[in-house]
Amino acid sequence: MSKVLIIGAGGVGSVVTRKCAAVPEVFTDIMLASRTLEKCDQIARDIGGDRVKTAQVDADNVPELVELINKFKPDMVINVALPYQDLTIMEACLETKTHYLDTANYEPKDVAKFEYSWQWAYHERFKDAGLLAILGCGFDPGVTGVFTAYAAKHYFDEIHYLDIVDCNAGDHGKAFATNFNPEINIREITQNGRYWENGKWVETEPLEINKPIEYPGIGPRDSYLLFHEELESLVKHFPTIKRARFWMTFGKQYINYLNVLQDVGMTSIKPINFKGLDIVPLEFLKAVLPEPASLGEGYKGQTSIGCQIRGIKDGKERTYYVWNNTEHASAYRDVKAQGISYTTGVPAMIGAMMALTGKWAGKGVFNVEQFNPDPFMEALPKYGLPWHEQIDQALPVEK
Ligand code: NDP
Repeated sequence: MSKVLIIGAGGVGSVVTRKCAAVPEVFTDIMLASRTLEKCDQIARDIGGDRVKTAQVDADNVPELVELINKFKPDMVINVALPYQDLTIMEACLETKTHYLDTANYEPKDVAKFEYSWQWAYHERFKDAGLLAILGCGFDPGVTGVFTAYAAKHYFDEIHYLDIVDCNAGDHGKAFATNFNPEINIREITQNGRYWENGKWVETEPLEINKPIEYPGIGPRDSYLLFHEELESLVKHFPTIKRARFWMTFGKQYINYLNVLQDVGMTSIKPINFKGLDIVPLEFLKAVLPEPASLGEGYKGQTSIGCQIRGIKDGKERTYYVWNNTEHASAYRDVKAQGISYTTGVPAMIGAMMALTGKWAGKGVFNVEQFNPDPFMEALPKYGLPWHEQIDQALPVEK
């Protein structure tokens, strides 16, 4: 018997709402609020049966959020708007004594930089208020943290090497589109790469390190080393890790388009004056690119995301690979979404369910790997994300 307020009616928000609506025994009352009310109404109409209430909200505005939360009185807010809104929504949760969950860590609008420091700084305030905040509960971050915690709990005494591998071998038929919010996606990819080695961060040029990696059921795909936020929390919570890296696949065409857009200045976040108006080129680019929520229909192929781990158990070397593959078409059949929104939205719903049913409990700000991974791992296949594991076999990332 719980009430949830979902903020953000984009690709991920639509999946979270549909998935929560399908579990009435946990999510008895649901409200979807976003900047554009019509998008919330459309999702609520599709779900039907008056299952979902809707509201308009500007999540950059704390008093507006507080007013909405006080009116609806949810037990938890699921934030699937943009990382820019994390802190305002956390402030509103503190003011209204409401639990919090998100899928992406805070980043300031004017600097393309993401790290947990801003949100971890809220730990004492959430703790003192007796509230739970769960950070990064999508797939990556999210399931990748749970996969690592599961490996640490069941298969290793010490994890030494962690490689998170994220492949999208899908084809949406568009010349160029991003699978989640274009602004956030392009900011992430065009930054310097970074990985953890022997107690410090090693920085690379953007997309400097790449190699083909073999993905289950897909084959080899060009994979690029990026910085990804879960590396920061995982090396903190599993201090035996000697090296942690994150790899993501990109097709040649995607990289070509990205290079052109970058070379002509369209990915810049510095405002320029155009006909008397200050505009940010990347925000303008976002406005002309397809919305992630619009890519589902006809999207072919699959994603494969997992963790490849090397460490020791009972004094012996051991390897472990755990992964999920998701077909874009089956995500569309289930909730009219493409695979990236799906693999993010389903874990966000499961994380909220873990908290609201008391399986994940705590006071303060937590990353997902700090909780018991078992009930979450059990729920993944039940709600659409089956996973597979291989023990003591050569790791594809090391070949
Ligand atoms: P979309 O751009 O499709 O959706 C974002 C939604 O947030 C839009 O509906 C937008 O409104 C709304 N929004 C933006 N600003 C505000 C605001 N100030 N107030 C209220 N609503 C606002 O993005 P996605 O659904 O693809 O991504 C959502 C989140 O999920 C992002 O933070 C992204 O980083 C994260 N993500 C996490 C992943 C993971 O595995 N952990 C993977 C993929 C995404 P409008 O429609 O009016 O623009």
